[in-house]
Amino acid sequence: MKYKIPTGTKDVLPSDIHKWHHMEDKIRDVMTRFNYREIRTPIFEYTDLFKRGIGEATDVVGKEMYTFLDKGDESLTLRPEMTASVIRSYIENHLGEQQPLNKVYYLGPMFRQERPQKGRLRQFHQFGVEAIGSPHAAQDVETMLVSLTVYEELGLRNLSFKINSVGCRDCRPRYREELVKFLNGIKDRLSEESKNRMASNPLRILDSKNKGDVEATKNAPLMKEFLCDSCAPHFAEVQKKLKDHGIEFQIDGRLVRGLDYYTKTAYEIQSDDLGSQNALGGGGRYDLLCEDLGGKPTPSVGFAAGLERLLIVMESLPDSSIPVSGLDVYFIALGLRAQDALMPQMHAIRRRNLRCDIDFLQRSLKAQMREANRHQAKKVVIVGDQELDAGEAVIKTMETGEQISVPIAQLVEELTRR
Ligand code: AMP
Repeated sequence: MKYKIPTGTKDVLPSDIHKWHHMEDKIRDVMTRFNYREIRTPIFEYTDLFKRGIGEATDVVGKEMYTFLDKGDESLTLRPEMTASVIRSYIENHLGEQQPLNKVYYLGPMFRQERPQKGRLRQFHQFGVEAIGSPHAAQDVETMLVSLTVYEELGLRNLSFKINSVGCRDCRPRYREELVKFLNGIKDRLSEESKNRMASNPLRILDSKNKGDVEATKNAPLMKEFLCDSCAPHFAEVQKKLKDHGIEFQIDGRLVRGLDYYTKTAYEIQSDDLGSQNALGGGGRYDLLCEDLGGKPTPSVGFAAGLERLLIVMESLPDSSIPVSGLDVYFIALGLRAQDALMPQMHAIRRRNLRCDIDFLQRSLKAQMREANRHQAKKVVIVGDQELDAGEAVIKTMETGEQISVPIAQLVEELTRR
């Protein structure tokens, strides 16, 4: 094979597309019920947006971005996530001046040059929301409910929902100092990767998956013990509201998440049905991002979740029932004369909203029946020379095997009758 798909990317083939439509329809449906409206931003942005928005010390910016110079020597980057783009658009289009709270959602491809494995690709798809404008815990909880509702209505079980508070720029520096003090004491036991993070991003050492790191940091101080007078009550309020909704959660003091912009609430939804890449999605509050990107101070909260991982879980469900939509009618024309007679009928029926097809390969009756079965046709219409001469067509209902003869001129009426 001369041409191959790039490493870490995947084709979605026609035989699988119904699964994607099923997820996407559910996501759009839930978003609409929660009154989030879709925002679409470009696939690429100026590189500085992500550097400033996500943070230079993060893996995403430091190691994983697809960055290139265009022919005008502008540095552009394929979007690795959406929050920075959404906030850029929010500021640039003065959305905050039109209404005090903007609730938006998105769905689309993201790009990160990671080492591919199950559930980890270089082009992957995310859906997510951003609620821009509210500082209140109820808004944090609403974003959590959006994602949980999508998962629940798609039939997912065995989810664990973890929350934490990562503090703010008032309380985090003091915590960071304490953490670094602690880490210095156990430095020799840390992995190389964690050692490298000591100066740039020490908080992330806490969510290292390396066994040695986990053991060495067992007694590390946690952010939740250092929360300030603004962050602590907010965190308590989020927990209370989750309990009010009857949502089970665990507090995970080590949950930090990879992106720098989080303040206060951070959360993650994991699935026991995934392998090592067990995070379905996550999110949190980012009260300072808007001003960091040149806008007015605007408290905001959102989440992002992966579609490929969602699909892996859905396919593993024992009672997975992703609906396949078959044809309403398959037209079997035996001979070109019959085909000429049937095509206008089929066109009229398609215009009446039924899904139909006809054989374009002039195959035998048997082959065309096979095709009708492949497309899960509910009915087939059969016309050969004999029927044509009589002005009749045979309609066969596939489920029952029942056959009736109707005048060709009445096919549309007969097939569109409820
Ligand atoms: P993040 O934007 O890193 O917080 O990721 C949010 C979610 O996007 C993750 O929980 C995954 O479901 C998905 N995700 C992130 N990176 C990848 C990737 N490289 N491949 C597939 N899914 C990803």
